[in-house]
Amino acid sequence: MKRSFNLAAGVALLAALAPALRPAPPAQKIYWGDSVPSGWNGKWPAKYLTVAEKTGYTRTASSTEVLEFLDTLRWASDKVAIINMFTTSQRRTGAAAVLADPRIATPEEAAKSGKTVVYLQGNIHAYEPEAKEALMMLMRDILLGKRKTLLGGLIIIVCPNLNVDGTDTLSLSEGTPHLLGSATNAQNVNLNRDAIRVDTAEIAGLYRTVFNRWDPTLVYDGHLMGRVQHGYAIGYATCTVPAAHPGPRDYVFDKLFPAVREATRKTFGLEVFTHCETDDKWPPTVWSHEEAMWTTEAKFIANAYGLRNRMAILAETPGHESFERRIYAHYALIAGVLDYAAAHGQEMRDVCRAADRAVVAAVEARAATGELRNFVAGTYGSYGQVDVLVYKEPNVSTLIPGTSVRARIAPHMLGAPELVRGLDFLCKPIGTVEARVPRGYLIPAELGVLADKLRAQGVKVEVLAKPVKASGEEYVVDKVGRGRSGGYSMIKLEGGFAPSQDKEFPAGTFRVDLAQPLANLAFYCLEPQAADGFVGWGVFEDWFKAAGADRRSVVYPVYKYFKIAE
Ligand SMILES: [Zn+2]
Repeated sequence: MKRSFNLAAGVALLAALAPALRPAPPAQKIYWGDSVPSGWNGKWPAKYLTVAEKTGYTRTASSTEVLEFLDTLRWASDKVAIINMFTTSQRRTGAAAVLADPRIATPEEAAKSGKTVVYLQGNIHAYEPEAKEALMMLMRDILLGKRKTLLGGLIIIVCPNLNVDGTDTLSLSEGTPHLLGSATNAQNVNLNRDAIRVDTAEIAGLYRTVFNRWDPTLVYDGHLMGRVQHGYAIGYATCTVPAAHPGPRDYVFDKLFPAVREATRKTFGLEVFTHCETDDKWPPTVWSHEEAMWTTEAKFIANAYGLRNRMAILAETPGHESFERRIYAHYALIAGVLDYAAAHGQEMRDVCRAADRAVVAAVEARAATGELRNFVAGTYGSYGQVDVLVYKEPNVSTLIPGTSVRARIAPHMLGAPELVRGLDFLCKPIGTVEARVPRGYLIPAELGVLADKLRAQGVKVEVLAKPVKASGEEYVVDKVGRGRSGGYSMIKLEGGFAPSQDKEFPAGTFRVDLAQPLANLAFYCLEPQAADGFVGWGVFEDWFKAAGADRRSVVYPVYKYFKIAE
């Protein structure tokens, strides 16, 4: 008894002293360069291992092997439904898996479930297969492993392998994987430049079967960057098109990204930050999206998706790091994003719905008078100063001694980078050119291609059953020129708007009423001065030629109406 009395007193004394004696928590271990925690992918029977895991991260899955993996999961779990998104010209199928508990196969069931729909995509650039591999591992871990609880709040649609033709067009690569797919699809189109133009079966299928039907609150698109100078395991960006409603994109940038950054450091030991690069100076002075080829134009899936009042993320891993490390980085970031979405799904959906309502309300209240405006081009402004992890020594590639093989990572990049303070944080989308937002557009019947492209993106387009008179403004094209923008030769118009009264339009004319949630998307596609709308992508090229626009001024064929008399 006496001893236990003394013991209790001792415990009480220790408890009183505890705040002073408690050791500081161990510093968070951060994995730099090529390193990853050993055994991070867990222990799985052979049939559940991905090609990358089975081959020590020297190979990546072919399109057939991705389908086989989906098939394995489908037989092992009753929480999978498959969406056939498209068939390519080479007769390959693009597939996405809908993961839900209980199983959900239609958007109607999804809406009834009250859960948040997210869409995750890999391999739009088939020579960047790390997100594809990470997504296959995540699907397995969500269905059969330690991430099952995510399906309590989320419906997760996963397309690990969007560019199915590019995936199987193999060439030898430096480092791992030893065999890599191509950047483009079988028509040699870069699918991540097709978001507005919608020329490919792949992007048309993505819109038709996933975006327009399931309306995901959040979209994640996984990529690889070239060699970078910064010290982050992965960089993330959201939509930065100034024409997009700021609600969803600001939410991702201001709330989701900081929370996920913190969680990724804590849970996975990785430093992650915005998809940026520094300038070439030492010490560097800017940390900017433009240095990493991110843009305010809408040609990228993640940028175009923001024009739909929804949330989007593009993420890129450093190209010089090992394949396993790049897979780990995507895995970690996506897991962090999913954890966040599972906890904040209702709030995220509320932000998106509020943006839908605000877009429609603005058109209804202010478009008829011509006072409503939106941006057709933009640039990046500063968020202020930011501290950034950067390597001082240049990231040069060297030969592995005694071989003709290039080493991927420079030795100094296996260690910790330096923290450079006070860089100019150039990521804030700023509109530079404005245009009036009309109540709607009237498109001549012979330009049905425009109606098709808008409908492919989910925009509501009607056909006039009887003639109407409309008043608004017309764009007079003085010159059809070209300019390089975002790495592409784009068409750029010179001209100006002129007011127009009581113009008649016959039955059969297409009408796009902008009082719809996709108003900003339709505006960006149809405005003649938009940085990379339909005009920029050459959709009107034949029309301009036929109209003689190379010899004289012509009126842009899409009419902007403020008022319509029916
Ligand atoms: Zn890419």
